[in-house]
Amino acid sequence: MTSNKNKDIKVTVIGAGLAGSEAVYQLIRKQIPVRLIEMRPKVKTGAHTTDMFGELVCSNSVGSNLPDRAPGLLKEELRFFGSYFMETAYKYRVPAGNALAVDRYAFAREMTRYLKTHTLVDFVNEEAVEIPKDGYVIIATGPLTSNSMLEELQKMLGKKHLDFFDAVAPIVNADSINMNIAFKADRYGDGENGDYINCPMNKEQYLAFVEALLNAERIDLSDMEKSARKKYFSACQPVEIIAESGIDSLRFGPLKPVGLVNPRTGQRPYAVVQLRQDNLLASMFNLVGFQTNLKHPEQIRVFKMIPGLENAKFERLGQMHRNAYINAPELLLPTLQLKSNPNIFFAGQISGVEGYTESAATGLLAGMNVCRLIQGKEAVSLPAQTMLGSLLHYITYTGHKDFHPMNVNFGLFASKEGEKSEERKDRIIKTARKVFREFVSSI
Ligand SMILES: Cc1cc2nc3c(=O)[nH]c(=O)nc-3n(C[C@H](O)[C@H](O)[C@H](O)COP(=O)(O)OP(=O)(O)OC[C@H]3O[C@@H](n4cnc5c(N)ncnc54)[C@H](O)[C@@H]3O)c2cc1C
Repeated sequence: MTSNKNKDIKVTVIGAGLAGSEAVYQLIRKQIPVRLIEMRPKVKTGAHTTDMFGELVCSNSVGSNLPDRAPGLLKEELRFFGSYFMETAYKYRVPAGNALAVDRYAFAREMTRYLKTHTLVDFVNEEAVEIPKDGYVIIATGPLTSNSMLEELQKMLGKKHLDFFDAVAPIVNADSINMNIAFKADRYGDGENGDYINCPMNKEQYLAFVEALLNAERIDLSDMEKSARKKYFSACQPVEIIAESGIDSLRFGPLKPVGLVNPRTGQRPYAVVQLRQDNLLASMFNLVGFQTNLKHPEQIRVFKMIPGLENAKFERLGQMHRNAYINAPELLLPTLQLKSNPNIFFAGQISGVEGYTESAATGLLAGMNVCRLIQGKEAVSLPAQTMLGSLLHYITYTGHKDFHPMNVNFGLFASKEGEKSEERKDRIIKTARKVFREFVSSI
């Protein structure tokens, strides 16, 4: 698999997607030669359609560009660091309101042309089937990592530390839940101090909700997704599929009210949607059992019908798709190094982040850290008060009950008692900017 272009190469990057390309760029800008292994087009992923680096597999939008939005703040941090992903995205920007959208072909063509032919890049067009034993390695094989590499990773990390499929329920911001309707209680608990937030439904509300759920538009699954679902997730049905099997299915399933009494009425509700705390800060709650394939705007419309969630702010929407990712909280340091072998880094979606910009951001940090190690410095992570730092701390926090990949959002930051939502956002942004600049000048 190796070529003779440069025998002194100490770094291998596997995968020329968004994370891998960014990592390579960060290395070569510091004059560090890199071996880059990419399998396409010889081996296909099922979603990529070209042989280009940095291909955007779905939307051509890389998210909000507004400075007061979480993705906007992440972009600001990336630009400060000299991100190639950001530079190329702005170069090939197309009009999309407040979002940063790109001409996907021009964007990927530029990345491919620059990196593939760079004198410091030894490009190997093969499927990597093992992890190199020498030097530094950045594994950036993405959500659609090839099967042979998945087997190799299983051997290295253990079966239970690798997931192939992601079925996530929506997450809402805790401050946006109407606690005049919802109530705190555990099933068969002894009062109002339970861990769960419960959204009670009467019969009329339940029937209207089920009808809306059944009629909502769904994401059209590819054959690849259907077969992956069958293989890995037969036991984990989307909420709309459970609803299809009978009008009472949800009421006897994830919305069962047994063991719960609404303290406002003293009665058991007809059905209950339970919300479970999702982060240590208790700023985010997920809808228990609500993994779904509804289109995103439909999720917002239908799930806002749940009493108590009428003004809910969705930090992440539900989804079910093939998504290889490692158990980052157990395996990774916030520097993106493998705890058991600090010469190996994970970056991109496989490291437990979600989204184009987040993937590029972790590629940037992994590339930057390998440079630092080669230069005799220590690997770093960002402070948790910054946008990227909050995400890195989330994915490597060991207290998750059930870890799923995460995108950037303001729910990753602590709330202060009595603080209004706009004040909170303002405080987070100001602190993030200040701490980020202090961090940059300290390294
Ligand atoms: C179907 C789908 C749609 C998505 N849509 C969006 C979206 O609209 N917006 C968004 O923000 N995020 C989206 N995501 C999530 C995610 O942001 C993207 O997948 C993103 O491209 C991840 O970046 P990455 O660098 O981690 O992986 P990728 O960009 O997928 O890059 C990984 C690269 O590794 C290569 N590779 C895999 N295995 C091997 C191997 N063994 N040897 C050599 N090369 C290998 C692949 O060919 C690929 O080029 C989507 C994910 C999927 C699966």
